[in-house]
Amino acid sequence: MPLIKGIVRFIWTTIWSFIWLTIVVGLCLVGLLFYVEGQAAPQVLQSIVVQAKEVVTGQVAIDLSSGLDTITHLATDQVNESASSRWETNAATVYIDTTDPTFVEAYQTAIANWNATGAFTFTLVDNASQADIIATEMNDSTSRAAGEAESTTNLLTNYFDSVTVKLNAYYLYNSEYAYDFDRIVHTAEHELGHAIGLSHDDSQESVMESAGSYHGIQETDIQAVLTLYGLN
Ligand SMILES: [Zn+2]
Repeated sequence: MPLIKGIVRFIWTTIWSFIWLTIVVGLCLVGLLFYVEGQAAPQVLQSIVVQAKEVVTGQVAIDLSSGLDTITHLATDQVNESASSRWETNAATVYIDTTDPTFVEAYQTAIANWNATGAFTFTLVDNASQADIIATEMNDSTSRAAGEAESTTNLLTNYFDSVTVKLNAYYLYNSEYAYDFDRIVHTAEHELGHAIGLSHDDSQESVMESAGSYHGIQETDIQAVLTLYGLN
């Protein structure tokens, strides 16, 4: 019996030694990667380190959209198409942070139109601190876009932490661009589309077309939301 005990103990000790060795070697490699980041490390290695740090720290990604325009065909905005973030469920709260009556009505109409699709539900709240999404305005001639959507995403979950959407009064009220109320609503629907997690779609009629805001929410947009949230 002592012999069997000895063999079992030897195997047990060997397994644990192997596990510990693996952990120590792993930690040394991580330490080395973080160390060489400051040195003249190869580009590939540096990008691995940056990604590793983001995973380790749960750092948020900030996606600030901006855009280009022409007089006749103003860009709605420009977003990072690689970011396929979303909310955990197909619902989010919104605080409308503007006193401009046209923009308030445009946001309210856009929210009602999205809610009517049944694919995503926005709930208005009257306190900014309770809101997932802040819907506001700006007056910026340098952004060169009709709107803007800025999001922070938790890289561990790829879910949004917060989104701020803006309507740009500088262009939407500029007679050269001739935005009527419907196109302002489409712009609001578009920015809220980004706040849902949708990317641009210029392959067909879509509220997510990258310029012009000529179309409201289409069947293809509803399907895109259902697909994003795994509901179809
Ligand atoms: Zn856009």
